[in-house]
Amino acid sequence: MYLYNLKLKKIELIVVIFSVELNFSYLCMLKNQDMKRAIFPGTFDPFTIGHYSIVRRGLNVFDEIVIAIGKNQSKKTLFSVEKRIDIVKQAFPNENRVKVLEYDSLTVDFARSVDAKFILRGLRTVSDFEYERTIADTNNIISGIETVILFTESAYSHISSTVARDLISYGKDITEFLPRGVKV
Ligand code: ADP
Repeated sequence: MYLYNLKLKKIELIVVIFSVELNFSYLCMLKNQDMKRAIFPGTFDPFTIGHYSIVRRGLNVFDEIVIAIGKNQSKKTLFSVEKRIDIVKQAFPNENRVKVLEYDSLTVDFARSVDAKFILRGLRTVSDFEYERTIADTNNIISGIETVILFTESAYSHISSTVARDLISYGKDITEFLPRGVKV
């Protein structure tokens, strides 16, 4: 009798564990379906504190952001892809909601390949506006992917990768242009 009870208890325990496991997998599945993932595409030559601020604030909107480093063969860059990836990793050492990947395809194809339904971009000036709008419209028409644009924080509106590269070419220090703790 005692043995029989023990057997029954074991079976009950297994059933409970199994159903907890099932519920957990189901919740994970729901969570993944609802996950808002965006890519933040750019050349990031180099990734600046302006870019960093857009990603930080983007994390209030999205569950996960994939920083997508464009590897356009025809575009000559100062920093190698490996170095550009390393800079992003230094900027987000403990943030598991930020990923970094390189890509050399059409941006919307890359977004689809990582299951992202949004593209995140930053806007500094009026001159950025027309360019960003054209690209956002085109991407939406060809893929249905929405672009979400955040205005730059005014403290960083003068920061650009182009100016950072110019300063480097004159041997100047660009620490102030980079996210805190990043070394190039
Ligand atoms: P791209 O080569 O596609 O222009 P960039 O690396 O220059 O890529 O920029 C990627 C995105 O970051 C763009 O949306 C750009 O407008 C934005 N961005 C660049 N600098 C800043 C900044 N200082 N503040 C906010 N957004 C910025």
